[in-house]
Amino acid sequence: MLEKGLKSTVKGLESLGIAHAAEVNWNLSPAELVEEALANGEGTLTETGALMCDTGKFTGRSPKDKFIVKDSKTENTVWWGDINIPFEPAKFDALYAKMIKHLEGKKLYVRDAYAGADERYQLHLRVVNTQAWHNLFCNNMFIRPTEEQIKKFNPTFTIINAPEFLADPAIDGTRQSNFAIINFSKNIILIGGTGYAGEMKKGIFSVLNYTLPHEHKVLSMHCSANVGEKGDTAIFFGLSGTGKTTLSADPHRGLIGDDEHGWTENGVFNFEGGCYAKVIDLTREKEPQIFDAIRFGAIVENTRYIPGTRSVDYANGSVTENTRTAYPINFISNAIEPSVAGTPKNIFFLTADAFGVLPPISKLNAGQAMFHFISGYTAKVAGTEVGITEPQTTFSACFGAAFLPLHPTQYAEMLGKKMKENQVNVWLVNTGWTGGPYGVGSRMKLSYTRAMITAALNGDLDKVGFSQNAVFGVSMPNSCPNVPAEILHPRNTWSDKAAYDAKAADLAAKFVKNFEKYADFANEEILAGAPKVNVNA
Ligand code: ATP
Ligand code: MN
Repeated sequence: MLEKGLKSTVKGLESLGIAHAAEVNWNLSPAELVEEALANGEGTLTETGALMCDTGKFTGRSPKDKFIVKDSKTENTVWWGDINIPFEPAKFDALYAKMIKHLEGKKLYVRDAYAGADERYQLHLRVVNTQAWHNLFCNNMFIRPTEEQIKKFNPTFTIINAPEFLADPAIDGTRQSNFAIINFSKNIILIGGTGYAGEMKKGIFSVLNYTLPHEHKVLSMHCSANVGEKGDTAIFFGLSGTGKTTLSADPHRGLIGDDEHGWTENGVFNFEGGCYAKVIDLTREKEPQIFDAIRFGAIVENTRYIPGTRSVDYANGSVTENTRTAYPINFISNAIEPSVAGTPKNIFFLTADAFGVLPPISKLNAGQAMFHFISGYTAKVAGTEVGITEPQTTFSACFGAAFLPLHPTQYAEMLGKKMKENQVNVWLVNTGWTGGPYGVGSRMKLSYTRAMITAALNGDLDKVGFSQNAVFGVSMPNSCPNVPAEILHPRNTWSDKAAYDAKAADLAAKFVKNFEKYADFANEEILAGAPKVNVNA
């Protein structure tokens, strides 16, 4: 096997059974990987030097094709169901052997990296890719070891990712040709049939969401995090598209991370070494830090150029609305490294309420905080289909159920305990609609959301009066610097008050219905945090 690049002296690919690759490229630099990607025809260079690639048929994760091997280790610990779909150990072994055979004669790219900025809980990760740009993605998204660390690198977890490898469901036990399978006993993730790079990142997130709470009593969280000059940490939970990445990039605060964090007895730490930001409709004016990070070394996915130029047309969603960029965290000037900070003082639950009924910012008591964390609400705007105008509610426990191998209440219990121990302020922020639902009202201005978060963080909201929302019970500030007071109470922004009341009651009922499955977990305090369904009756 021809081998190039910087290789660990501790362990090679033989330990994985790979002995006949055509060429193994070890830990190439970003410049080398960009050259490889261009030579392989994997992408093109944008005018700012970023590498632009298409992910192929899959432009997002495929949750129905994500499996966990069910064996003696996971059988009684994983919360099996639609999210954590079991996979037979023997089928895994057979598929592994088939994939290794597939890699024979291929040019491979290997990356050694860490997941987890807190050394005590770090995964030592080895990724084997068949595409150079995927390997660059791993360089950008995971934590980069030094040359010295690479020489002594001893991997504890492996990802094998071959997008061109298609499974045969009848033989291999998958649902269709693409798959992402986690094996916690063998410390391996197998990915095939999909070119969506986010499967690697979210695969490792799922791993840490199992091992950290289960083996180390560390809370893992789907949230972004930043820290103020006085060392005050803030974390932002929220489902996809609610603003974790956007709102954590704040020029006045140090960026810890944009998506995945752990909370130990000392504070928070990032799992990753990079950011994966949405770029649909990105402008320099609204999001200068993210815009400027898209330069040499960064990747942009599934975007299109302004015809005749190499200028990315961020408004173009023709491939997918989920266009993305992946860049190392140090591409954001105020990112702090290592990505660790103290215990959070403020927690934000971000939700994009497309019904326009939740207040743009409100303060939650302990029961409400637990209720909303377990509910994990956001709304998806209507699709492009003609005639469908009603937004859809999404409830995803802990604002990230798709990535949680354990039962949601395990994470919720840990968070509840930490909130009580540390006197944290908890805020619910609606980054979605105001003035009416999707189609009638408009999306909350980003500048207003930023101003409200700033006011919460710097204590301005401690000095203002609050009103209780009649349906949701949450406390809404009556004023906020740099935000028009009339938008703070959502009912005031609707011209049709009866329509607001009806929509709010409707959403409240959906919250309560969704919560029924957590009845065993709910105590009186949490139940008191639920919205009031019959408030208008
Ligand atoms: P993911 O988990 O998929 O990474 P995310 O929570 O990080 O999602 P963002 O990437 O921050 O979500 O996406 C929020 C999107 O919504 C951005 O495109 C942003 O420009 C847009 N947006 C519009 N108005 C607001 C607002 N008021 N607050 C936050 N984001 C807004
Ligand atoms: Mn994000």
